[in-house]
Amino acid sequence: MCGYMEKLSQKKIEQNSTILFDSVGCKLNKYELEVMRAQSETLGMVPLVKQKTGDVVVLNTCSVTNSASADSRRMIRKYRKHNENAYIVVTGCYSQTDLDEVKELGVDLILNNMEKAKFFDIIKKDINDLDELNLQKQSIMSSVKFQSRPFLKIQDGCDAYCSYCIIPRARGRSRSVDKKEVLSQIEELSKTYPELVITGVNLGQYEQEKDYGLLALLKDMVAIDTVKKLRISSLEPNDLTPEFLNFMVENDKICKHIHLPLQGGEDQLLKDMRRNYTIEQYSEKLKMARKLCPQICLGADIMVGFPTESESCFDKVKENLLNLEIDYFHVFTFSARDKTVANNMQEKVEPQIKKERNRWVTSLSSKRKKDFLERHIGKTFDAVVERGGKTKGFMKALTDNYIPVIFETTEDLALKFVKIRIDEVGTDKVFGTLLKVY
Ligand code: SF4
Repeated sequence: MCGYMEKLSQKKIEQNSTILFDSVGCKLNKYELEVMRAQSETLGMVPLVKQKTGDVVVLNTCSVTNSASADSRRMIRKYRKHNENAYIVVTGCYSQTDLDEVKELGVDLILNNMEKAKFFDIIKKDINDLDELNLQKQSIMSSVKFQSRPFLKIQDGCDAYCSYCIIPRARGRSRSVDKKEVLSQIEELSKTYPELVITGVNLGQYEQEKDYGLLALLKDMVAIDTVKKLRISSLEPNDLTPEFLNFMVENDKICKHIHLPLQGGEDQLLKDMRRNYTIEQYSEKLKMARKLCPQICLGADIMVGFPTESESCFDKVKENLLNLEIDYFHVFTFSARDKTVANNMQEKVEPQIKKERNRWVTSLSSKRKKDFLERHIGKTFDAVVERGGKTKGFMKALTDNYIPVIFETTEDLALKFVKIRIDEVGTDKVFGTLLKVY
């Protein structure tokens, strides 16, 4: 299953063709498209931004939920309709889990998740009269253009088998990028960007050799002089050990923000989901983090509507969520995925009930977010000013602990590392004062 590449037409690509990219799903998918976009430039192609038609169309799909699969299908159909003669490449989880369906949609090439990394070499073969000598095969990362903070993917795949999750099937076993490669990319990117986001499907599974995992890698990253701030995109609860947390809290270069997926809000639910921790253990991690670093931002993924989430179970979920010290929730609604354990569970939660549960957690999340922001009024933080946010004398910066703050300035401070004070929290915006540009 994992080793395929499906070439479905004999179409060729002309030199200097235009190419456009679109994706459904996670930040990782967007990141991967950025890498492919950079690769296409080195092949002499012309990447387009926000356009519907191009000579080549690359679509990165997702199948994490039924609605993500449906969105992926719609996206492919839409681009095929508007680009009758284009060379269409489809990649990502949906094309891997539903290969036969994708083949029916009239695409030209399907790349599996592992082959995305070889996009450059694969697509090169289909370009007419490509002048090999003039091909400048540059470092992929150094030519990737990011908005404000690059996402650096250091790991892919997952060796856990949560009962609802299709990712291990779609992305394969855990694989880690070579540490030398990671460190040299970090060094290069940190010369331009004050903040880098370290990402992967399951970061805690990063492994190079015995005793060299994520923590060892992060220690090597912060030792690089040019590195100012690193944000860890997400960490499984069992990977947040006291040693890891102490390192995060004590090191100024690590952002004080942890996204710790909870998924199930009750012990039996967690067992049914095959998550290997209890609410008590999860709660202890949050308390420990808050105690060591009161300003830390703690976020969680939570899934509602899992088959065994009965009414009494959800009452318990509500009670538990109200007691957990979480500052925001990303709420997902369960949808059964083929070939997962949860797909065969007999119980079911009605769609209407799922919606109500989603609304309940979303509303709790809004309250928690507001409380979190208001707790920080009058406090100062390190922050990175974002690109493209300049509106009539205002710019936006993201603090170390994940608060987007709007402040007044007459200068263009994009990508500057600054100190900022939070003054006011509005309905959906936070305002502050710029104190220092480092
Ligand atoms: S940890 Fe569980 S939910 Fe996360 S990618 Fe792996 S199997 Fe899926």
